[in-house]
Amino acid sequence: MERVALVGFGIAGASLAAKAPQGVDLVVFDLGGRRCSSRVATGLVNPIVLKRRRVVWRAAEALEVALHTYPIELRSSGSIYEVLRTVQELNDWQALSDHPALGAYLGAIHPVPGGVHGVGLGEVRGSFRLNVVGFLEHMRAQVEVRNESVERLEPQRDGSWTINGTERFDRVLLAEGYQARWTEHLWGPLGFARTWGQGLNVGLSLDPGVMLHRSHFLLPDGNGLYQLGASFGWGIEHGDQDPPEANASQAEELLNSAREWVDGSIDVQGQWTGIRPNTQDRRPRWGWHPEHPTLGMLNGLGSRGTLHAPLLAQELWS
Ligand SMILES: Cc1cc2nc3c(=O)[nH]c(=O)nc-3n(C[C@H](O)[C@H](O)[C@H](O)COP(=O)(O)OP(=O)(O)OC[C@H]3O[C@@H](n4cnc5c(N)ncnc54)[C@H](O)[C@@H]3O)c2cc1C
Repeated sequence: MERVALVGFGIAGASLAAKAPQGVDLVVFDLGGRRCSSRVATGLVNPIVLKRRRVVWRAAEALEVALHTYPIELRSSGSIYEVLRTVQELNDWQALSDHPALGAYLGAIHPVPGGVHGVGLGEVRGSFRLNVVGFLEHMRAQVEVRNESVERLEPQRDGSWTINGTERFDRVLLAEGYQARWTEHLWGPLGFARTWGQGLNVGLSLDPGVMLHRSHFLLPDGNGLYQLGASFGWGIEHGDQDPPEANASQAEELLNSAREWVDGSIDVQGQWTGIRPNTQDRRPRWGWHPEHPTLGMLNGLGSRGTLHAPLLAQELWS
């Protein structure tokens, strides 16, 4: 059996575990904690960049693999709906549904639920929400996971690796997320443009009951509670830092944007932050090291980790 060390167990690491071929003995090293972006991710699997009305890079093949990877009970049955505020927006949505690429994902127009301003809801076909933490736990039960940081990673003459000075592995896969300590040490700079995001847990007096998007997402979490977010913040210079604390101006920005299209009271009950492993060219990074063929990585998943991780994990193994 080949012994493979997997460093990091967010959505990238869990997808690599899900796609591991037979005959691999996988040992996971994962520090977890506040720096694990997947544990705060909203979990939307969305083939469209809604703000730009554009199809996400490799959306069709990524969606197909994602559907085969994520257990059905961890996926929402409903889609995301774009709130169309004017007749012009509604007409544009309908016109774009003939578009050769976008058309596949621009679904029917639905009535607007009470409590929401708009003339229609455009369904994003193929979209769903993944219970990300549920998926991490589901995969965690199938592999050996150590709550341990990789502090030393050394190549050996025979192509194997030692981790933390003693343990030997035939191959190492790095899925370190935004921190990317060993990935950047061994590959050099990956062109990160890390962003941070803040989300709010809110109670609504009027309950639309479906996943909505209009400048931000508003997503039902059950019992009248919703997630509102997430904001985009710049200025994360390097990976060796915790996510910033939630701040009042980002919260106000989210609330002001929601108040433009949501009626009734919005009552903030909690907030959270995390850092996204975005890259300057908005493309993930995955592959095998040119000089160390037994070293692989999957990173740079940006805002689309849930969509792309299973496809790229599959490609890395193959
Ligand atoms: C507020 C917010 C909302 C988001 N919403 C969505 C969304 O709706 N849909 C979507 O697809 N994406 C979303 N994202 C983006 C998503 O979170 C990321 O794309 C994804 O989590 C990246 O996964 P990853 O596995 O690469 O990294 P991570 O999830 O960060 O996992 C990396 C893991 O590796 C561990 N690690 C790192 N270095 C070491 C080391 N040396 N030793 C041991 N362990 C180590 C870390 O502790 C961590 O547990 C959101 C992000 C934020 C911040």
